[in-house]
Amino acid sequence: LTCQASREVISTSKDVALVHGVSEMIVGVLGGGQLGRMLCQAASKMTIKVMVLDPLENCRASALSYDHMVGSFDDSATVEEFAKRCGVLTVEIEHVDVVTMEKLEQQGVNCQPKASTIRIIQDKYLQKVHFSQHNIPLPEFMQINDLEGAKRAGELFGYPLMIKSTSLAYDGRGIAAAKSEEELSSAVDALGGFDRGLYVEKWASFVKELAVIVARGRDISILCYPVVEIVHSQGTANVKWKIRECATEVAYKAVSSLQGAGVFAVELFVTRDGQILLNEVAPRPHNSGHHTIGSCYTSQFEQHLRAVVGLPLGDPSMNTPAAVKYNILDEDEGEHDFRLAHQLIGRALTIPGANVHWYDKPDMRKQRKMGHITIVGPSLGNVERYLANMLKEGSLDDK
Ligand code: ATP
Ligand code: MG
Ligand code: MG
Repeated sequence: LTCQASREVISTSKDVALVHGVSEMIVGVLGGGQLGRMLCQAASKMTIKVMVLDPLENCRASALSYDHMVGSFDDSATVEEFAKRCGVLTVEIEHVDVVTMEKLEQQGVNCQPKASTIRIIQDKYLQKVHFSQHNIPLPEFMQINDLEGAKRAGELFGYPLMIKSTSLAYDGRGIAAAKSEEELSSAVDALGGFDRGLYVEKWASFVKELAVIVARGRDISILCYPVVEIVHSQGTANVKWKIRECATEVAYKAVSSLQGAGVFAVELFVTRDGQILLNEVAPRPHNSGHHTIGSCYTSQFEQHLRAVVGLPLGDPSMNTPAAVKYNILDEDEGEHDFRLAHQLIGRALTIPGANVHWYDKPDMRKQRKMGHITIVGPSLGNVERYLANMLKEGSLDDK
Protein backbone atom coordinates (compact mmCIF):
# COMPACT_ATOMS: atom_id res chain seq x y z
CA LEU A 1 0.00 0.00 0.00
CA THR A 2 1.32 3.43 -0.84
CA CYS A 3 -0.46 6.64 -0.15
CA GLN A 4 0.18 10.33 0.00
CA ALA A 5 1.31 11.67 3.31
CA SER A 6 0.59 15.24 4.18
CA ARG A 7 3.58 17.52 4.69
CA GLU A 8 2.72 17.58 8.36
CA VAL A 9 3.21 13.82 8.64
CA ILE A 10 6.62 13.60 7.06
CA SER A 11 8.72 16.48 5.88
CA THR A 12 10.82 15.59 2.86
CA SER A 13 12.37 17.67 0.15
CA LYS A 14 9.45 16.61 -2.06
CA ASP A 15 5.81 17.40 -1.43
CA VAL A 16 4.82 13.76 -1.55
CA ALA A 17 6.25 11.08 0.69
CA LEU A 18 5.61 7.37 0.55
CA VAL A 19 4.38 5.89 3.79
CA HIS A 20 4.23 2.21 4.69
CA GLY A 21 0.80 1.97 6.24
CA VAL A 22 -1.56 4.45 7.79
CA SER A 23 0.85 6.95 9.35
CA GLU A 24 4.52 7.14 10.17
CA MET A 25 3.98 9.68 12.88
CA ILE A 26 5.00 8.52 16.34
CA VAL A 27 2.24 9.34 18.80
CA GLY A 28 3.69 10.24 22.20
CA VAL A 29 1.29 9.68 25.08
CA LEU A 30 1.89 11.33 28.45
CA GLY A 31 0.84 8.56 30.83
CA GLY A 32 0.93 4.81 30.33
CA GLY A 33 -2.03 3.59 32.37
CA GLN A 34 -5.06 1.62 31.29
CA LEU A 35 -6.23 4.27 28.83
CA GLY A 36 -2.75 4.37 27.29
CA ARG A 37 -2.85 0.60 26.97
CA MET A 38 -6.18 0.75 25.16
CA LEU A 39 -4.75 3.40 22.83
CA CYS A 40 -1.91 0.96 22.05
CA GLN A 41 -4.44 -1.81 21.36
CA ALA A 42 -6.29 0.40 18.87
CA ALA A 43 -3.00 1.54 17.33
CA SER A 44 -1.79 -2.00 16.71
CA LYS A 45 -4.69 -2.59 14.31
CA MET A 46 -3.34 0.08 11.97
CA THR A 47 0.29 -0.24 13.08
CA ILE A 48 0.40 3.31 14.37
CA LYS A 49 3.40 3.72 16.65
CA VAL A 50 2.44 4.76 20.18
CA MET A 51 5.16 5.68 22.63
CA VAL A 52 4.30 6.21 26.28
CA LEU A 53 5.90 8.21 29.07
CA ASP A 54 5.19 6.74 32.49
CA PRO A 55 7.24 6.42 35.69
CA LEU A 56 6.24 2.80 36.29
CA GLU A 57 8.46 0.29 34.56
CA ASN A 58 5.60 -2.20 34.34
CA CYS A 59 2.88 0.36 33.61
CA ARG A 60 -0.23 -1.03 31.90
CA ALA A 61 0.66 0.31 28.47
CA SER A 62 4.32 -0.70 28.52
CA ALA A 63 4.14 -4.15 26.96
CA LEU A 64 1.82 -3.08 24.14
CA SER A 65 3.55 0.18 23.27
CA TYR A 66 5.97 0.79 20.43
CA ASP A 67 8.29 2.18 23.07
CA HIS A 68 8.07 3.11 26.74
CA MET A 69 10.19 5.87 28.22
CA VAL A 70 10.38 5.42 31.98
CA GLY A 71 9.97 8.83 33.59
CA SER A 72 7.53 11.32 35.01
CA PHE A 73 5.00 13.10 32.80
CA ASP A 74 5.12 15.80 35.44
CA ASP A 75 8.85 16.53 35.05
CA SER A 76 9.93 19.23 32.64
CA ALA A 77 13.25 17.81 31.39
CA THR A 78 11.72 14.34 30.94
CA VAL A 79 8.73 15.64 28.98
CA GLU A 80 11.06 17.69 26.74
CA GLU A 81 13.26 14.66 26.08
CA PHE A 82 10.18 12.53 25.33
CA ALA A 83 8.72 15.13 22.96
CA LYS A 84 11.88 15.03 20.84
CA ARG A 85 11.15 11.40 19.98
CA CYS A 86 7.51 11.94 18.97
CA GLY A 87 5.69 13.46 16.01
CA VAL A 88 2.69 14.46 18.08
CA LEU A 89 2.23 14.74 21.83
CA THR A 90 -1.05 13.75 23.47
CA VAL A 91 -2.28 12.71 26.93
CA GLU A 92 -4.13 9.87 28.62
CA ILE A 93 -4.31 11.84 31.87
CA GLU A 94 -4.79 15.60 32.29
CA HIS A 95 -2.52 15.97 35.33
CA VAL A 96 0.65 16.51 33.33
CA ASP A 97 3.28 19.26 33.28
CA VAL A 98 1.33 21.83 31.26
CA VAL A 99 3.93 24.59 31.60
CA THR A 100 6.39 22.42 29.69
CA MET A 101 3.71 21.55 27.13
CA GLU A 102 3.14 25.27 26.53
CA LYS A 103 6.86 25.86 26.16
CA LEU A 104 7.21 22.94 23.73
CA GLU A 105 4.26 24.20 21.71
CA GLN A 106 5.98 27.57 21.32
CA GLN A 107 9.03 25.69 20.02
CA GLY A 108 6.86 24.06 17.38
CA VAL A 109 6.03 20.74 19.04
CA ASN A 110 2.68 19.44 17.89
CA CYS A 111 0.46 18.96 20.97
CA GLN A 112 -3.05 17.57 20.52
CA PRO A 113 -5.20 18.66 22.23
CA LYS A 114 -3.49 22.03 22.75
CA ALA A 115 -1.72 22.88 26.01
CA SER A 116 -4.28 25.67 26.57
CA THR A 117 -6.99 22.97 26.74
CA ILE A 118 -5.05 20.88 29.26
CA ARG A 119 -4.44 24.03 31.35
CA ILE A 120 -8.15 24.84 31.47
CA ILE A 121 -9.25 21.28 32.20
CA GLN A 122 -6.66 20.30 34.82
CA ASP A 123 -7.90 23.10 37.08
CA LYS A 124 -11.56 22.35 37.73
CA TYR A 125 -12.28 25.92 38.82
CA LEU A 126 -10.68 27.38 35.67
CA GLN A 127 -12.72 24.86 33.71
CA LYS A 128 -15.96 26.18 35.24
CA VAL A 129 -14.94 29.78 34.55
CA HIS A 130 -14.09 28.90 30.93
CA PHE A 131 -17.36 27.11 30.23
CA SER A 132 -19.49 29.74 31.92
CA GLN A 133 -17.77 32.37 29.75
CA HIS A 134 -18.83 30.28 26.76
CA ASN A 135 -22.44 30.17 27.95
CA ILE A 136 -22.41 26.43 28.67
CA PRO A 137 -25.05 25.62 31.32
CA LEU A 138 -23.46 24.38 34.57
CA PRO A 139 -24.17 24.39 38.32
CA GLU A 140 -23.42 27.73 39.98
CA PHE A 141 -19.95 27.80 41.51
CA MET A 142 -17.65 29.99 43.55
CA GLN A 143 -14.03 29.90 44.71
CA ILE A 144 -13.51 29.69 48.48
CA ASN A 145 -10.37 30.69 50.37
CA ASP A 146 -11.46 30.31 53.99
CA LEU A 147 -14.27 29.07 56.21
CA GLU A 148 -16.01 32.43 56.06
CA GLY A 149 -16.07 32.18 52.28
CA ALA A 150 -17.44 28.64 52.49
CA LYS A 151 -20.20 29.82 54.85
CA ARG A 152 -21.10 32.66 52.51
CA ALA A 153 -21.32 30.15 49.65
CA GLY A 154 -23.55 27.94 51.82
CA GLU A 155 -25.89 30.87 52.49
CA LEU A 156 -26.00 31.64 48.79
CA PHE A 157 -26.32 28.13 47.33
CA GLY A 158 -27.92 26.26 50.25
CA TYR A 159 -27.17 22.70 51.45
CA PRO A 160 -26.03 20.11 50.63
CA LEU A 161 -23.09 22.01 49.24
CA MET A 162 -20.53 20.34 46.97
CA ILE A 163 -16.91 21.25 47.75
CA LYS A 164 -14.25 20.31 45.21
CA SER A 165 -10.46 20.56 44.90
CA THR A 166 -9.42 22.65 41.95
CA SER A 167 -6.50 20.40 41.00
CA LEU A 168 -5.43 16.74 40.94
CA ALA A 169 -9.05 15.66 41.39
CA TYR A 170 -10.27 12.44 39.81
CA ASP A 171 -12.21 9.26 40.62
CA GLY A 172 -14.24 11.22 43.16
CA ARG A 173 -11.18 11.75 45.37
CA GLY A 174 -11.30 15.54 45.22
CA ILE A 175 -14.93 16.09 46.19
CA ALA A 176 -16.76 16.32 49.50
CA ALA A 177 -20.36 17.22 50.27
CA ALA A 178 -21.33 19.28 53.34
CA LYS A 179 -24.92 18.65 54.42
CA SER A 180 -24.98 21.69 56.69
CA GLU A 181 -22.87 24.63 57.82
CA GLU A 182 -21.59 22.49 60.71
CA GLU A 183 -20.11 19.99 58.25
CA LEU A 184 -18.18 22.58 56.25
CA SER A 185 -14.94 22.42 58.19
CA SER A 186 -14.74 18.60 58.24
CA ALA A 187 -15.47 18.51 54.48
CA VAL A 188 -12.71 21.05 53.87
CA ASP A 189 -10.31 19.02 56.06
CA ALA A 190 -11.18 15.84 54.17
CA LEU A 191 -10.05 17.58 50.99
CA GLY A 192 -6.73 18.63 52.51
CA GLY A 193 -7.62 22.18 53.56
CA PHE A 194 -7.90 25.51 51.75
CA ASP A 195 -4.22 25.52 50.74
CA ARG A 196 -4.96 22.81 48.23
CA GLY A 197 -7.24 25.20 46.30
CA LEU A 198 -10.97 24.67 46.76
CA TYR A 199 -14.20 25.85 45.19
CA VAL A 200 -17.87 25.06 45.77
CA GLU A 201 -20.67 24.07 43.46
CA LYS A 202 -24.38 24.42 44.04
CA TRP A 203 -25.90 20.98 44.57
CA ALA A 204 -27.29 19.66 41.30
CA SER A 205 -30.27 17.48 42.20
CA PHE A 206 -30.01 15.53 39.01
CA VAL A 207 -32.21 12.66 37.88
CA LYS A 208 -29.66 11.23 35.49
CA GLU A 209 -25.96 11.48 34.72
CA LEU A 210 -25.00 11.34 31.08
CA ALA A 211 -21.76 11.34 29.14
CA VAL A 212 -21.04 12.25 25.55
CA ILE A 213 -17.75 11.37 23.88
CA VAL A 214 -16.90 14.07 21.36
CA ALA A 215 -14.14 13.78 18.77
CA ARG A 216 -12.47 16.78 17.22
CA GLY A 217 -10.27 16.35 14.15
CA ARG A 218 -7.19 18.39 13.23
CA ASP A 219 -9.39 20.12 10.64
CA ILE A 220 -11.65 21.07 13.61
CA SER A 221 -14.47 18.84 12.37
CA ILE A 222 -16.49 17.55 15.32
CA LEU A 223 -18.35 14.23 15.68
CA CYS A 224 -20.37 13.15 18.71
CA TYR A 225 -20.86 9.57 19.92
CA PRO A 226 -24.27 8.40 21.11
CA VAL A 227 -25.25 9.65 24.57
CA VAL A 228 -24.48 7.27 27.44
CA GLU A 229 -26.30 7.14 30.73
CA ILE A 230 -24.11 6.49 33.77
CA VAL A 231 -25.98 4.38 36.31
CA HIS A 232 -23.86 3.19 39.23
CA SER A 233 -21.15 2.13 36.83
CA GLN A 234 -23.43 0.60 34.21
CA GLY A 235 -23.82 2.51 30.99
CA THR A 236 -26.96 2.35 28.90
CA ALA A 237 -28.58 4.78 26.56
CA ASN A 238 -32.19 4.61 27.67
CA VAL A 239 -32.60 8.36 27.49
CA LYS A 240 -35.40 10.30 25.81
CA TRP A 241 -34.64 11.59 22.34
CA LYS A 242 -35.07 15.26 23.32
CA ILE A 243 -32.68 14.94 26.25
CA ARG A 244 -30.15 13.11 24.08
CA GLU A 245 -30.30 15.87 21.51
CA CYS A 246 -29.90 18.59 24.11
CA ALA A 247 -27.00 16.74 25.81
CA THR A 248 -25.23 16.29 22.49
CA GLU A 249 -25.68 20.00 21.75
CA VAL A 250 -24.16 21.06 25.08
CA ALA A 251 -21.27 18.59 24.64
CA TYR A 252 -20.63 19.81 21.09
CA LYS A 253 -20.61 23.42 22.22
CA ALA A 254 -18.30 22.68 25.16
CA VAL A 255 -15.73 20.91 22.98
CA SER A 256 -15.97 23.62 20.30
CA SER A 257 -14.76 26.10 22.90
CA LEU A 258 -11.51 24.14 23.42
CA GLN A 259 -8.40 24.07 21.25
CA GLY A 260 -6.89 21.09 19.51
CA ALA A 261 -7.72 17.62 18.28
CA GLY A 262 -8.58 14.45 20.13
CA VAL A 263 -11.39 12.73 21.93
CA PHE A 264 -13.08 14.53 24.82
CA ALA A 265 -15.53 13.17 27.39
CA VAL A 266 -18.27 15.50 28.53
CA GLU A 267 -20.00 14.55 31.79
CA LEU A 268 -23.48 16.01 32.19
CA PHE A 269 -26.35 16.18 34.67
CA VAL A 270 -30.02 16.05 33.71
CA THR A 271 -32.04 18.02 36.24
CA ARG A 272 -35.62 17.26 37.31
CA ASP A 273 -36.98 19.88 34.92
CA GLY A 274 -35.08 18.39 31.98
CA GLN A 275 -32.25 20.92 31.96
CA ILE A 276 -28.77 19.76 30.97
CA LEU A 277 -25.85 20.99 33.10
CA LEU A 278 -22.20 20.34 32.39
CA ASN A 279 -20.29 18.60 35.19
CA GLU A 280 -16.80 18.28 33.74
CA VAL A 281 -14.82 17.54 30.62
CA ALA A 282 -11.87 15.17 30.19
CA PRO A 283 -9.47 15.89 27.29
CA ARG A 284 -8.97 12.19 26.43
CA PRO A 285 -10.73 8.86 26.04
CA HIS A 286 -12.87 8.08 29.07
CA ASN A 287 -14.37 5.18 30.97
CA SER A 288 -17.85 6.15 29.78
CA GLY A 289 -16.66 5.57 26.20
CA HIS A 290 -15.29 2.05 26.67
CA HIS A 291 -18.45 0.53 25.20
CA THR A 292 -17.46 2.06 21.84
CA ILE A 293 -14.83 -0.71 21.41
CA GLY A 294 -17.61 -3.24 20.97
CA SER A 295 -20.57 -1.14 19.93
CA CYS A 296 -19.41 1.60 17.53
CA TYR A 297 -17.86 1.52 14.07
CA THR A 298 -14.87 3.49 15.39
CA SER A 299 -13.85 3.10 19.03
CA GLN A 300 -12.99 6.17 21.07
CA PHE A 301 -9.35 4.99 21.10
CA GLU A 302 -9.02 4.63 17.34
CA GLN A 303 -10.81 7.96 17.04
CA HIS A 304 -8.35 9.68 19.37
CA LEU A 305 -5.42 8.35 17.33
CA ARG A 306 -7.02 9.36 14.03
CA ALA A 307 -7.70 12.83 15.45
CA VAL A 308 -4.25 13.57 16.86
CA VAL A 309 -2.40 12.15 13.85
CA GLY A 310 -4.55 14.18 11.46
CA LEU A 311 -6.38 11.32 9.75
CA PRO A 312 -10.08 11.63 8.86
CA LEU A 313 -12.37 10.91 11.81
CA GLY A 314 -14.18 7.58 11.78
CA ASP A 315 -17.89 6.87 12.11
CA PRO A 316 -18.93 7.24 15.77
CA SER A 317 -22.35 5.63 15.35
CA MET A 318 -23.34 2.31 16.87
CA ASN A 319 -22.98 -0.88 14.87
CA THR A 320 -25.46 -2.70 17.10
CA PRO A 321 -28.96 -1.75 18.33
CA ALA A 322 -28.02 -1.73 22.02
CA ALA A 323 -25.07 -1.93 24.37
CA VAL A 324 -24.44 -1.94 28.09
CA LYS A 325 -21.10 -1.66 29.87
CA TYR A 326 -20.42 -2.83 33.40
CA ASN A 327 -17.37 -1.65 35.37
CA ILE A 328 -15.72 -4.32 37.50
CA LEU A 329 -14.65 -2.49 40.66
CA ASP A 330 -12.34 -3.70 43.37
CA GLU A 331 -14.42 -3.92 46.53
CA ASP A 332 -11.87 -5.00 49.09
CA GLU A 333 -9.20 -2.53 49.98
CA GLY A 334 -5.78 -4.07 50.34
CA GLU A 335 -6.91 -7.63 49.75
CA HIS A 336 -6.51 -9.22 46.39
CA ASP A 337 -9.89 -10.86 46.35
CA PHE A 338 -10.83 -11.50 42.76
CA ARG A 339 -13.52 -14.10 43.44
CA LEU A 340 -16.42 -11.88 42.49
CA ALA A 341 -14.58 -10.59 39.43
CA HIS A 342 -13.73 -14.16 38.40
CA GLN A 343 -17.35 -15.24 38.78
CA LEU A 344 -18.55 -12.31 36.68
CA ILE A 345 -15.94 -12.89 34.01
CA GLY A 346 -16.70 -16.62 33.92
CA ARG A 347 -20.38 -15.91 33.33
CA ALA A 348 -19.71 -13.11 30.84
CA LEU A 349 -17.64 -15.47 28.71
CA THR A 350 -20.77 -17.58 28.15
CA ILE A 351 -23.03 -14.63 27.21
CA PRO A 352 -23.59 -14.03 23.51
CA GLY A 353 -22.50 -10.50 22.62
CA ALA A 354 -20.40 -10.03 25.76
CA ASN A 355 -16.78 -8.90 25.72
CA VAL A 356 -14.48 -9.04 28.73
CA HIS A 357 -11.74 -6.47 29.33
CA TRP A 358 -9.46 -7.19 32.30
CA TYR A 359 -6.87 -4.53 33.16
CA ASP A 360 -4.61 -6.63 35.41
CA LYS A 361 -3.80 -3.66 37.63
CA PRO A 362 -1.05 -4.47 40.11
CA ASP A 363 -2.04 -2.26 43.04
CA MET A 364 -5.58 -2.54 44.34
CA ARG A 365 -7.57 0.29 45.83
CA LYS A 366 -11.17 0.30 46.92
CA GLN A 367 -13.57 1.11 44.09
CA ARG A 368 -10.74 0.99 41.58
CA LYS A 369 -11.76 0.01 38.08
CA MET A 370 -10.34 -3.46 37.47
CA GLY A 371 -11.94 -4.20 34.14
CA HIS A 372 -15.21 -3.95 32.28
CA ILE A 373 -17.68 -6.10 30.44
CA THR A 374 -19.57 -4.84 27.42
CA ILE A 375 -22.70 -6.63 26.24
CA VAL A 376 -24.16 -5.82 22.83
CA GLY A 377 -27.43 -7.17 21.46
CA PRO A 378 -30.64 -6.66 19.49
CA SER A 379 -32.41 -4.47 22.10
CA LEU A 380 -31.78 -2.65 25.36
CA GLY A 381 -34.16 -5.09 27.09
CA ASN A 382 -32.07 -7.98 25.81
CA VAL A 383 -28.68 -6.66 26.95
CA GLU A 384 -30.06 -5.51 30.29
CA ARG A 385 -31.52 -8.96 30.90
CA TYR A 386 -28.17 -10.57 30.22
CA LEU A 387 -26.49 -8.07 32.52
CA ALA A 388 -29.04 -8.63 35.30
CA ASN A 389 -28.54 -12.42 35.06
CA MET A 390 -24.80 -12.00 35.14
CA LEU A 391 -24.98 -9.84 38.26
CA LYS A 392 -27.71 -11.77 40.08
CA GLU A 393 -25.61 -14.86 40.42
CA GLY A 394 -22.53 -12.72 40.87
CA SER A 395 -23.21 -11.52 44.42
CA LEU A 396 -20.79 -13.14 46.80
CA ASP A 397 -23.43 -14.58 49.12
CA ASP A 398 -21.32 -17.69 49.45
CA LYS A 399 -18.28 -15.66 50.52
P1 ATP B 1 -14.15 11.53 37.77
O1 ATP B 1 -13.02 12.33 37.21
O2 ATP B 1 -13.78 10.15 38.21
O3 ATP B 1 -15.38 11.55 36.92
P2 ATP B 1 -14.15 13.59 39.76
O4 ATP B 1 -13.31 13.29 40.95
O5 ATP B 1 -13.60 14.50 38.74
O6 ATP B 1 -14.63 12.23 39.13
P3 ATP B 1 -16.74 14.87 39.62
O7 ATP B 1 -17.01 14.28 38.31
O8 ATP B 1 -16.61 16.34 39.70
O9 ATP B 1 -15.49 14.20 40.34
O10 ATP B 1 -17.87 14.40 40.64
C1 ATP B 1 -18.07 13.02 40.91
C2 ATP B 1 -19.54 12.74 41.08
O11 ATP B 1 -20.08 13.52 42.16
C3 ATP B 1 -20.38 13.12 39.88
O12 ATP B 1 -20.33 12.11 38.89
C4 ATP B 1 -21.75 13.30 40.52
O13 ATP B 1 -22.36 12.05 40.77
C5 ATP B 1 -21.40 13.95 41.85
N1 ATP B 1 -21.42 15.43 41.74
C6 ATP B 1 -20.44 16.21 41.24
N2 ATP B 1 -20.77 17.52 41.26
C7 ATP B 1 -22.00 17.59 41.81
C8 ATP B 1 -22.92 18.66 42.12
N3 ATP B 1 -22.61 19.93 41.88
N4 ATP B 1 -24.11 18.33 42.67
C9 ATP B 1 -24.43 17.04 42.95
N5 ATP B 1 -23.62 15.99 42.69
C10 ATP B 1 -22.43 16.24 42.13
MG1 MG C 1 -12.92 14.22 36.80
MG1 MG D 1 -16.43 13.17 36.85
